[in-house]
Order: sequence, then structure tokens, then C-alpha cells
Amino acid sequence: MKKYLAPVIILAVFESVAVTLWLTKNNLFYLFNFSYIGLSVSLGVFLYIRNNRHARRVVQLLVGLYMLVYLGLICNENMQIEGFWYYLFTGVFEAATIHYAVAKIIGPLFFGRGWCGYACWTAMVLDFLPFKTPAQKRRKIGWIRYVVFVLSLAFVGALFLAHVGNIERIMFRAFIAGNILYYAAGIALAYLFKDNRAFCKYICPITVFLKPMSCFSAIRIRCDKSKCISCGKCKRVCPMDVDVTDNSLKRKNGTECILCMECVKNCPKNALD
Ligand code: SF4
Ligand code: SF4
Ligand code: SF4
Repeated sequence: MKKYLAPVIILAVFESVAVTLWLTKNNLFYLFNFSYIGLSVSLGVFLYIRNNRHARRVVQLLVGLYMLVYLGLICNENMQIEGFWYYLFTGVFEAATIHYAVAKIIGPLFFGRGWCGYACWTAMVLDFLPFKTPAQKRRKIGWIRYVVFVLSLAFVGALFLAHVGNIERIMFRAFIAGNILYYAAGIALAYLFKDNRAFCKYICPITVFLKPMSCFSAIRIRCDKSKCISCGKCKRVCPMDVDVTDNSLKRKNGTECILCMECVKNCPKNALD
């Protein structure tokens, strides 16, 4: 039973956040929201412990669809980066700002880019494409993410400066348009570069938050050098080109690890955990 402690702890952490936010903000939504996400993540960890090869995809679909369809389309909550700027500028500490604080700014200090591996609704679709491991060398075009980041900030900033009315409605439209654009760009890039995660590597503006924060992540894949035979399999199966055999903070593409566990599952010597 000891091996099932991890999903129980995860559920307990999410429940604490759920109850705290429910009581402090007097809003039942937070109880439902964080309980649901906690249950989904715990179920994924439970399935992983049971060696179910679809464990990660189950969490990705449960959380990703909930965020995209329920929060985004039904509740009209813009969880894209523009939504974050919008709520930040209005000074409202609501779902989108809480989501960014938990999943993308503070959370990565604990669970790195777990968001990217287990919850993102953009990657949820991209991971269905056929290029699971990159077929080509990484390109030096990661600067595009900073341009997209600045554009998103400028877009929302301009709406506020121009005192445009009904920004809430514009934000909902921006959520629909932004998602269509992200999916189109993500799928096109995946086929162009033969790499499902090309969008994540070069375009996604959220990585501007995720990368520096995940650098100090408490959860990290480590290599037991005494077991490693330098076969290179871990690097070949990694969707994010991480040199996971290097335990230093400066490991190549270290801030790109999405904790997908493909390297761990494929290591012939069980040198990674
Ligand atoms: S890099 Fe961006 S698109 Fe890719 S999984 Fe992370 S948040 Fe989603
Ligand atoms: S797959 Fe395992 S044994 Fe091979 S290089 Fe990676 S860590 Fe070492
Ligand atoms: S394969 Fe390993 S190093 Fe690469 S992203 Fe997945 S967990 Fe991280």
C-alpha cells in the first residue's frame, strides 16, 4: 500500500488548496475546481504506479478538456495569456490569475513543467500527432516566444489604454481566436519540423514564465551515474531534447522537461527516477 502514498498526498494537497480558497473567497467553484483537478492528477499517478501506459494521456484529457470546454467555452473564462493580463490589469484575483499563479508561476518551483506534460489543452491535441520524438535538430528560433509574449501584453494593454468598452466580451472572442491560432500553428509546425512539440519549443509565450521557474523545480528527473551505460536511449525518446543524464542545473534544455517520464520508462538500466 505504501506505493500508493503519492496519489493520496497529491489529493490531500489539492483538497487543502480547494478548501482554503472555497472558505477564504466564499466561492464553491474553487472547491469543485481544485477537487476535480486533484482527483484527475491522483488518478494519473495511480495509473502510472500500476504501469498503465496511458496514465499521462488520461490526466491530460481530463484536465485539458475541463479547462478548454468547461472553464473556457462554457464559463467564458479566458485562461490564455491574454486572460491573465486582463485579470491582472483589472486587479481581480479570479480563476485565470489563480490558475497562472498555481500552474505556471509558483507551482513550477515544485512540479516544474508538469503543466505542459499533464494539463495543457494545446499539447493535449498536439500529442495526438505522429511525431512523438523529434526527427530533426532543435532550431534557434526560441526568440519567437518573447515576441508573442510582448504582443499579447501589448494587445490587452492597448484595450485598456483606449478605454474600449465590454473588454470581457473581447476577451472571450480572443480566447476562441487564440486557441484556433495556437492549434493551427502547432499542427503546422509539428508537420513542418516533424516534431509534435515544436510549438512548445519555439512559439508558446507561457514558457516565458515556465522556463525560469522550473529551473529550480523540486521534482526533477535524476540519473544514477553508477547504473548508466551511456546508451543514449533517454535522449532519443525525449520529446523536449533534454540531456537527462546530466544532473547539474545547467543540463542541456533542462527547463524544457515536461516530466512525461518517457526517458524513465525506456532506460534499460533503470538509472532514471
Ligand atoms: S509549452 Fe505552452 S503549449 Fe506547450 S504544453 Fe506548455 S503551456 Fe502548453
Ligand atoms: S537510457 Fe539509461 S542507461 Fe541509457 S544513457 Fe540514458 S540513463 Fe544512461
Ligand atoms: S523524456 Fe524525460 S527528460 Fe524528456 S521531457 Fe520527458 S521526463 Fe523530461
